[in-house]
Amino acid sequence: MSQLKTPMKSHEKYVIIHLDLDCFYAQVEEVENPKYRDLPLGIQQNQTISTVNYCGRIKYKIPKMTRVKQALEMCPELIVIPARMEIYREESRKIFDECIGECVNSFHGDCVLEVCGIDEAYINVTDEVNWRLENATELGIDVKDHRGRKVSKSVNSQDNHLNIGSQIAEEIRCNVFNSLGYTISAGIAHSKFLSKLASKKQKPNGQALIYSESFDEEINSQDVSIIPNVGYTTKQKLAELCQISTVKQLRAQTYVNIIKCFNSDKAAIKVLNIANGKFDEEYDRVVSKGPPKSIGSELTFLTIQTYEDFEQKLRTITGDLFTRIQRDLKRNSNRYATKLTLRYCHGSYRDPYHSVSCKITSNIYNNLNNYEEKDESNIHSLVIKMFKQKVSLPFKLQRMGVSVSDFVEPPKFATPKTSTIGTSKIVNEEEKREGNLLSSFSQQSSNTNKKRKADSVSNGSQGRQTSITSFLKNKGASPIKKTKQ
Ligand SMILES: [Mg+2]
Repeated sequence: MSQLKTPMKSHEKYVIIHLDLDCFYAQVEEVENPKYRDLPLGIQQNQTISTVNYCGRIKYKIPKMTRVKQALEMCPELIVIPARMEIYREESRKIFDECIGECVNSFHGDCVLEVCGIDEAYINVTDEVNWRLENATELGIDVKDHRGRKVSKSVNSQDNHLNIGSQIAEEIRCNVFNSLGYTISAGIAHSKFLSKLASKKQKPNGQALIYSESFDEEINSQDVSIIPNVGYTTKQKLAELCQISTVKQLRAQTYVNIIKCFNSDKAAIKVLNIANGKFDEEYDRVVSKGPPKSIGSELTFLTIQTYEDFEQKLRTITGDLFTRIQRDLKRNSNRYATKLTLRYCHGSYRDPYHSVSCKITSNIYNNLNNYEEKDESNIHSLVIKMFKQKVSLPFKLQRMGVSVSDFVEPPKFATPKTSTIGTSKIVNEEEKREGNLLSSFSQQSSNTNKKRKADSVSNGSQGRQTSITSFLKNKGASPIKKTKQ
């Protein structure tokens, strides 16, 4: 007799990761000035401390959204930094659009990244999970449960989907930390709602997952206000009109009973669906806010002092960058970048970055497949030209990165009849134009200090495959927490 299987609920086919940057504004300041990590630090917005770092929260018990005066009374040594929103937005863009966006782009199928605000994102990694499970044997992937124990690939398929999702979340977190120095907490579940609930369980710098079986236990005792769309007013109405204060009490109702507490049938149904763990098409679907705004690759290395060494390191970067651009061309309808940027740093990770940019045209993409052949119009040559114009001997370099950005729609090329001569003319004119533009580089300094893994291409497959051991090694002070259910 064949074994009876529990039918799969519709939402169980999805694997969603929720990512939440730990005390983000404070963490940006800590990444820039690592000495802050062990000191109480608060970010001031108006007269309030909007974010407190974990030293301030744990050691001095300062809650966020405390008045500055009161926070200083609680902890006179509290370092108060006025919020630098521009910097935080830029760091958020690098983390989500560049680093995590690139990671998600490299996944199989249609994995979707939805960035929510400045410090949170959801990723639907279902297709990548399915691909890894299908190819687990060939790839030598071990499926491990939340305690790190090996489990059979065939046992309880839906749990295994979440287990693989958990491994992906860990890779993403390691990649962000090794590339940019930021810690993230993550939650893994079959819906957005549950993944967000899970990401709160192991903060900071940890991750947790919620299996379907533990749904009741996780949610029943919770206050009804944890359900999305149950705000202050609805909560009051549920309490007064229906004597409902916990999720368990809400789940015991039909929507007819609670409709009087909501503005519409739709709102009542949605809240009840989410409370019962059903996938809500509108709330739970992960929706992309568009393709990454820039694509880049970076390298950290022991000090180099010659143009020859520069070219050699650059070749690794451009090789990696070309792979990413080619992937982007396929995924994003042949859009092409119009800006090329080189970032470099003379000293250690405490020293500021310098950057130099120039305009590029679609023609620059011609050499994507054979960048080994030196051609004046390819990205590699253009970067060398930019660097030599900007930095003269003697120099010392420890880090650099190249990125392309400012994407536009594909150009309309000339008809075949005129293409041979026409294209060649365009090439020359564009090269000339590029040459002119090189003389008007913009130079910027960034005070952002980054801790990077030596000699590793950031955002790339090497980064993604960084082992948890090296993550721990890099993390130093606060070790990563184990995944918990
Ligand atoms: Mg956060």
